[in-house]
Amino acid sequence: AGSGKFFVGGNWKCNGTKDSISKLVTDLNSAKLEDDVDVVVAPPFIYIDQVKSSLTDRVEISAQNSWVGKGGAFTGEISSEQLVDIGCKWVILGHSERRHVIGEDDEFTGKKAAYALSQNLKVIACIGEKLEERESGKTFDVCFRQLKAFADYVTSWENVVIAYEPVWAIGTGKVASPQQAQEVHAAVRDWLQKNLSAEVASATRIIYGGSVNGSNCAELAKQEDIDGFLVGGASLKGPEFATIVNSAV
Ligand code: PEP
Repeated sequence: AGSGKFFVGGNWKCNGTKDSISKLVTDLNSAKLEDDVDVVVAPPFIYIDQVKSSLTDRVEISAQNSWVGKGGAFTGEISSEQLVDIGCKWVILGHSERRHVIGEDDEFTGKKAAYALSQNLKVIACIGEKLEERESGKTFDVCFRQLKAFADYVTSWENVVIAYEPVWAIGTGKVASPQQAQEVHAAVRDWLQKNLSAEVASATRIIYGGSVNGSNCAELAKQEDIDGFLVGGASLKGPEFATIVNSAV
């Protein structure tokens, strides 16, 4: 792990029912979570209130998306102001499912990050290459392009965590090797240093996401530039998520 406080986020995606979420919250409330880790979970919007009122304050709540600006006549959207109002502290932006399934582009994603930060939401800013991009040697180009789009709009990085999530590893069971992840994390840190500042490069946490589970987290967590994880599937199981939270300790 790096020098920043270890950060583990659970992205529940479009999963769960009132009952299954109630069970997951009970499991998380009784799990032993090491102190020196920031822990965040991202339920679907409609369950945020249920989770907020039943989950221990030890775990902060994130949304999985937010509208690009102030709320109003935007059918089906949820604004940053509304998320703050119900007690959300974080929002995940630029997730590969939003980019590649729903079609949100770099610029739209960068603008969302700036607006969310302006409303005092912290941002988990996701980047990552597709399989064909990796195979054609474009991993760094794609990650740096997505990073630049965030940097074009974000003025302060204090409340941003960067999530490197190779698309080929998300939900596929094909985790990046510790070396593959470390290589990109180091390159991202180097990009931050060259294009923003040495301070931003050393202070910004870069977390890995893509098929992280209770068995592979410890090896990944040993890497110098891996400051935590964003976890999808395995975050739906309380005890396994706790193992991942505690993996760097
Ligand atoms: C994610 O959706 O952010 C993710 C990393 O999913 P999974 O852990 O299921 O690959």
